[in-house]
Amino acid sequence: MADFSIDPDFAEQLEWIKEFVAAEIEPLDLAFAGEGFVYDKSSIFYDEAIRPLQQVVKDRGLWSCHLTPEYGGQGYGQVRLAYMNEILGRSQFAPTVFGTQAPDSGNAEIIAHYGTAAQKERYLQPLLDGRISSCYSMTEPQGGADPGVFRCRAVRDGDEWVIDGEKWFSSSLRYASFLIVMAITDPDVSVHKGASMFLVPTDTPGLEVVRNVGVGQEPPGHGSHAYVRYDSVRVPAENLLGGEGQAFVIAQTRLGGGRLHHAMRTVGAVARCLDMLCERALSRTTQGEVLARKQATQEKIADAWIELLQFRLQVLHAAWVVDQHGGAAARKEIAAVKVATPRVYREAVLRTMQLHGALGVSNEMPLPSMLMAAVTMGIADGPTEVHKFTVAREVLKDYSPAPGAWPSEHLPERRAAARDTYADLLERAIADS
Ligand SMILES: Cc1cc2nc3c(=O)[nH]c(=O)nc-3n(C[C@H](O)[C@H](O)[C@H](O)COP(=O)(O)OP(=O)(O)OC[C@H]3O[C@@H](n4cnc5c(N)ncnc54)[C@H](O)[C@@H]3O)c2cc1C
Repeated sequence: MADFSIDPDFAEQLEWIKEFVAAEIEPLDLAFAGEGFVYDKSSIFYDEAIRPLQQVVKDRGLWSCHLTPEYGGQGYGQVRLAYMNEILGRSQFAPTVFGTQAPDSGNAEIIAHYGTAAQKERYLQPLLDGRISSCYSMTEPQGGADPGVFRCRAVRDGDEWVIDGEKWFSSSLRYASFLIVMAITDPDVSVHKGASMFLVPTDTPGLEVVRNVGVGQEPPGHGSHAYVRYDSVRVPAENLLGGEGQAFVIAQTRLGGGRLHHAMRTVGAVARCLDMLCERALSRTTQGEVLARKQATQEKIADAWIELLQFRLQVLHAAWVVDQHGGAAARKEIAAVKVATPRVYREAVLRTMQLHGALGVSNEMPLPSMLMAAVTMGIADGPTEVHKFTVAREVLKDYSPAPGAWPSEHLPERRAAARDTYADLLERAIADS
């Protein structure tokens, strides 16, 4: 039986988080809009506005709750993280203030899991302390969903590895001190066995940012997703992360929890859409009555509430399965959440935009950027289509083909079998009627 209950102490923490995010962090979203401020840890803004808030979170025992206590986190289970992240999902800066900002959170997880002591000291500790940022560099210009097309190579040369190739959408490289790069080290086996991960400092010679790409209406040059070229980039042999050929095992570690955390935060964004929708419905008058009195609006509100409830329960259920049985056993549930996330978010935003009329699509509301975020959810971490295959493959594992020529539900055969069972009673009941 699934159990999503939480203890009173944690419920109190959630109340505190809600108030803290609304009072202290949401104003930063408004005054310092734009991705750079979230990631640039060398800025005055980071020192003066973000670090003091991070200290408050640390003092409250809520810093990097996804990490184990060994790395300064709380080792919270996924159900607790779900409740927490849905509050953080209402604000752009909240994950940074709480030490759960992607891609640093996922990168920290894999270095903690696979890094050597020296790698942890050089890369993990400053990351956990919030002193530096990192970047994850896997997707290539010719394809991201199919690793079979990856070409970036790393070749061993004495005590060094030499990396050559191109990567695409290496997010926040412009603010990062190092990258985790996936490169093929053995082209003679399948990419799932022949790719490895490397830690590459961003000032390594040969590393060139061709350009930074933006999403949506970010002006050219202003985005933070790097198209990056590796031209004979040399790193010492000890910069190999994990074992040779282990890149995909490592990537799975990174994506497992993170995939659910995006969905948890999306619950918060979808709830924010419902709040906007209801407020508008009660505020705008058309043809002599508020929109809320129109059946078409009531239908929108009912759909919005039902979809939020279903989605929230789906995310909590997936979180609970991970807590009970581990990430690998929750493959189907995690993939299903990944499928639902962009769909539910997109519908919530579109509905809310519609009810706000021209204002809804204007740059005076957060909705256009939320719509882009919703679309992005269906692409980043793998496209929706691929997650659907995973769900279908896992669902089919519980089924087998029909035993004979007809489906198991074929009525004539079932009826004949049932009649055999009740032949005697049937005969007497008919004679009696
Ligand atoms: C905002 C954002 C941030 C990102 N950050 C990073 C990052 O930090 N590091 C990084 O390495 N990458 C990052 N990515 C890249 C992301 O991982 C890829 O975009 C993703 O894996 C899809 O790859 P692609 O864009 O090459 O699309 P493709 O692989 O070309 O797929 C395009 C479309 O084809 C269809 N498709 C693909 N495969 C199938 C299939 N098997 N069956 C049916 N249809 C299919 C889907 O509709 C899919 O959306 C980011 C992407 C976004 C949008």
